[in-house]
Amino acid sequence: MDLQIPLVQQAAVIEDPGPGGRILLRGDVSVGEPGVHEILVKLEVSGVCGSEIRALLGWSSYTPIVGHEGVGIVVKAGADADDSLLGQRVGVKWLYSACTQCSACNRGFPNNCGRQLNTGRNVRGTLQQYVVADSRFVTRIPDGLASEVAAPLLCAGLTMMGAISKLDGQLGPGDWLVISGSGGGLGHIGVQIAAKVKGFRVIGIDSGEEKRKLSIESGASEFIDFAEGNVEHRVKEITGEGAHAIVVVSGSEDAFRASPLLVRNMGIIVCVGLPANDFNIPIPASLCSARALSITGVAVGSEGQMEEILEHALRGDIQPSIQILDFHDIPQILDQLKLGGVTGRVVVRIPSGINS
Ligand SMILES: [Zn+2]
Ligand SMILES: [Zn+2]
Repeated sequence: MDLQIPLVQQAAVIEDPGPGGRILLRGDVSVGEPGVHEILVKLEVSGVCGSEIRALLGWSSYTPIVGHEGVGIVVKAGADADDSLLGQRVGVKWLYSACTQCSACNRGFPNNCGRQLNTGRNVRGTLQQYVVADSRFVTRIPDGLASEVAAPLLCAGLTMMGAISKLDGQLGPGDWLVISGSGGGLGHIGVQIAAKVKGFRVIGIDSGEEKRKLSIESGASEFIDFAEGNVEHRVKEITGEGAHAIVVVSGSEDAFRASPLLVRNMGIIVCVGLPANDFNIPIPASLCSARALSITGVAVGSEGQMEEILEHALRGDIQPSIQILDFHDIPQILDQLKLGGVTGRVVVRIPSGINS
């Protein structure tokens, strides 16, 4: 394989995580060495997920190199790693590894394993040129799917596949689903899955003309700009009793507060967004009982759901809206994500050489 693996590489590194956290581009970061079951992947692209803001602001503990939507070529295999992966194009996801033994793993949901390790949290992430990944949990990217299209599916797409699948057997074609945060990296893919794959009628909630346009293009029947008025009133006007379900993709506390008001009795609230850890959804227990509401949540999706969304993307049913930017744009991209100013998903090109 590639014998030109350097000792040092370029990486985007978070310094002083907290209110004044910064991300710096460095050219002197060591290249990892794959251990047992591990491979080294030379990255071509990485998506930039809004959840990285949590690392920057120090809301939880992460490694200094985040990123969990990487696509690249396997250039080295460690002991007991599958050699047939060498030279293959793979996706590196949030799920670095899972225990394979617990009940969640046994049910086919390693993404819900209590002993999982995560890319960017426990091991260095994909905002670097070379990433070490666990060969048992990477995703082979099918031929015919461009790397920059595949990247946002590894977290954003997979998460929304997991979220919308929570409604299987509960909602049918034509039922109303609200997606709160419908113009963002995850939200617009969720609109596509809900409208085009499941046949739900989708009400997108977000703000601004660009996000309205992307929500409607993605298949939303209606769009409500939360900055322009009474969201509850508009949802009731459109649906009569309220939506059958809501997926709260936005990390905004207001979006979670509003969620029980936007669903009808027996409605389902699916939590996806990640507000600060000390925020609780203010729903009276008596209201949950009296209105028979269900509250559930997802953390990415299963390996089966990953295969499913890649197939939809190959067929063209799912088309992530991407902006491709350069690696050196990462600090500005995070600034924009902090302000909620990114429509669709940003994918960065990873430089191929040490100076390029
Ligand atoms: Zn993510
Ligand atoms: Zn497990």
